[in-house]
Amino acid sequence: MTLKAHILLGAPGSGKGTQAKRLVDTFALTHLSTGDILRDAVSKGTEIGLKAKAIMAEGKLVDDDTVNGLVFARLLDETRDVLFDGYPRTLQQAKALEDFLSSKGLELGMVVNVDVPQDVLEARVVGRRVCSNNACGAIYHLASKPPKQSGICDLCGSPLKHRSDDTAEAFRSRMGEFNSTFQPLLGFYRTRPTFRSVDGHRAPELVFDSLRQIFGARA
Ligand code: AMP
Repeated sequence: MTLKAHILLGAPGSGKGTQAKRLVDTFALTHLSTGDILRDAVSKGTEIGLKAKAIMAEGKLVDDDTVNGLVFARLLDETRDVLFDGYPRTLQQAKALEDFLSSKGLELGMVVNVDVPQDVLEARVVGRRVCSNNACGAIYHLASKPPKQSGICDLCGSPLKHRSDDTAEAFRSRMGEFNSTFQPLLGFYRTRPTFRSVDGHRAPELVFDSLRQIFGARA
């Protein structure tokens, strides 16, 4: 069977990371979050990590060639369908992915946009706390999904952290970047037969129900 690459699109704070984790568990997909891959490179101090660290802390985008290279290396090793989360982020990445997929005989799967109004996004991001244990990666929110014990992950007991790019200042920079690159990206995918949009400004369970229907019915 041809390996498919599915894509979850959405702004920072749209909830796509949380939804991606649930989707990969439900549909036995491999979760490929370029943010996670880059954070892992930063924490391991690899050459790419050292280059990416300051760029990420400012909420800017890591350059396309670096990100494409990381993604393609992972795709070559894959045996299951993958779900991209946070990739592609630019039109150049989308086009490079399309070329890579066709050169390897792989297919584009579902492309789903998690749509959330911009004024809702900042509050979500600034209150977000994530588990510092990369292998766990659980996501909390101080107001809407607090951990049982302040600052501690419910699932694995590791300390929670506030990502350095989840401050209000870095968020505004990320939104600036996002707005300039996202519309062309959406334009690139919007006319594809597998493109869908879901209303992400609802309870996470309801958003997941919509996504489950879409992925459950995929070709
Ligand atoms: P995320 O966890 O998806 O919010 O990504 C965190 C940060 O990693 C972003 O603000 C960027 O600095 C970097 N990053 C993640 N994915 C990409 C990508 N596809 N292209 C460029 N930079 C990325």
